[in-house]
Amino acid sequence: MMGPAHSLSGAAAWLGVGAAAAAAGHTMPWPVLVVGALICAGAALAPDLDHKSATISRAFGPVSKGLCEIVDKLSYSVYKATKGPGDPRRTGGHRTLTHTWLWAVLIGGGASLAAITGGRWAVLAILFVHLVLAVEGLLWRAARVSSDILVWLLGATSAWILAGVLDQPGNGSAWLFTEPGQEYLWLGLPIVLGSLVHCIGDALTISGCPILWPIPLGRKRWYPLGPPKFMRFRAGSWVEIKVLMPAFMVLGGVGAAAALNFI
Ligand SMILES: [Zn+2]
Repeated sequence: MMGPAHSLSGAAAWLGVGAAAAAAGHTMPWPVLVVGALICAGAALAPDLDHKSATISRAFGPVSKGLCEIVDKLSYSVYKATKGPGDPRRTGGHRTLTHTWLWAVLIGGGASLAAITGGRWAVLAILFVHLVLAVEGLLWRAARVSSDILVWLLGATSAWILAGVLDQPGNGSAWLFTEPGQEYLWLGLPIVLGSLVHCIGDALTISGCPILWPIPLGRKRWYPLGPPKFMRFRAGSWVEIKVLMPAFMVLGGVGAAAALNFI
């Protein structure tokens, strides 16, 4: 899928988690619902850091370009080192290491750890990166028209304001994990979810997605998981734009209403 569909599906998924949390008696304060949806929308772009023309690789100028090259090389060498007898030969790292459940868990776990040990600046950094990505993903071409610097400023000011809102008692820094010292531990959850939702989105396209790595399936360790061939579509096709994106918006709206106990 393309950037906007990935981001919308990420936001919708977190709003769905909000609905489930409300049903389970852990109702999210509204800032957790909003910030989580934005983080998840941003995190749903992150796995494509292995592809140089992806939104995320362009989002932070030379920093993300450089990181993209490193991630592509790393992914490719991990692929070569771990490929099973049934896995095809490939020429680059796109849709390998960063498109797996293990990567999602490591990135999310790392973010949670940084949030509880790194203090306010770590929280602000996590918010900033994901808010910039959310703006790029959700506003797509509209964000391209303005300059990168404006998008970064928007990300930085919203990160500052939202962290201030979350910090107020009862507003959510201690949502779900309530012991002292566990503030913002939940920040990793929308990040794991966003990465997984990205992989599922890619699995629906022609080439599939090796979500299960390193768990082998038959002779393949990088099995491209996906539904039966006739249910798959090409990235950026009409199915994605005319069917899936409106569906994500409706589902997200219903999820948000349920999460806030309106329905
Ligand atoms: Zn992808």
